[in-house]
Amino acid sequence: MTDHLIRCITHDGSIMAAAVDSTYIVAAAQQIHHTSPVATAALGRLLSGAALMGSLLKKEGASVTLKVNGGGPLGTLTAIADSAGNCRGFLEHPEVDLPVRETDGKLDVGRAVGSSGLLGVIRDNGEGQPYTGQVELQSGELAEDLSYYFAVSEQIPTICALGVLIDKTDSRRLLAGGLLIQVLPGASEEAIEKLEANAAKLPAVTTMLAHGMSIEEMCRTALQGFEIEILDDTPVYYACPCSRERVLRAFSTLPLEDLLTLPDKATGLAEARCQYCGKVYTFDREELEALAKKLEKFEFTC
Ligand SMILES: [Zn+2]
Repeated sequence: MTDHLIRCITHDGSIMAAAVDSTYIVAAAQQIHHTSPVATAALGRLLSGAALMGSLLKKEGASVTLKVNGGGPLGTLTAIADSAGNCRGFLEHPEVDLPVRETDGKLDVGRAVGSSGLLGVIRDNGEGQPYTGQVELQSGELAEDLSYYFAVSEQIPTICALGVLIDKTDSRRLLAGGLLIQVLPGASEEAIEKLEANAAKLPAVTTMLAHGMSIEEMCRTALQGFEIEILDDTPVYYACPCSRERVLRAFSTLPLEDLLTLPDKATGLAEARCQYCGKVYTFDREELEALAKKLEKFEFTC
């Protein structure tokens, strides 16, 4: 069971679109983090946005990190995606739930995320010196915030739509996806007007998902009136690259005295839980002492 992402371009080269079905990615995040419905929707939208932005990265090993801190009850949300289609994320308060919006009965993502804070974007091409950009949140609904980020920080006119649809009686039944459409340099006025007209009548992503539309149909709907070419169709996953080595590397940045106080007094073991995938790594005192010795030596020889 794998999610997919497609990228396409109009024949005249004026518009690029990417669409993702992120249902399994969001279901994995829900399972790992035990998220409430509104937390599932918020993190799910951010993961879908990250997956779409990951597909724009050209270099192998490149990654994009989205960090949102809107001052809402969910706390900080983080999502990372790489150019190979691996996504992961977490949020500070996955258990927080809010009543649905009175106006339309929908999950109140904007209130749960909050809108008085920042959206940060870190794009790492794997060559050192990552690119970082930051904009003020517009609504905390996330799709609008990402569009605003592209317009302000990268000067690329962008339409972003993200959606997570959760069954009201069984929150494990869900659908998730997203669309990212960008106007490329040199696009004609006519092409831009046609796109704007399409965008004005584009159904919500959740509506398109609920109607069983494929990601290709979603792109074709958004780009109605344009001839389009599908550039690629790639699998995307919820995947975490954590390992014992990575955790030890993180431990090695701690002051020596702190490192040796990590093991639990009763068991003699130190535990570290990966915040992205929930995997627990256990280290005994000898391992940590060996690491401390290595670090002491390193300090000495430097
Ligand atoms: Zn992990």
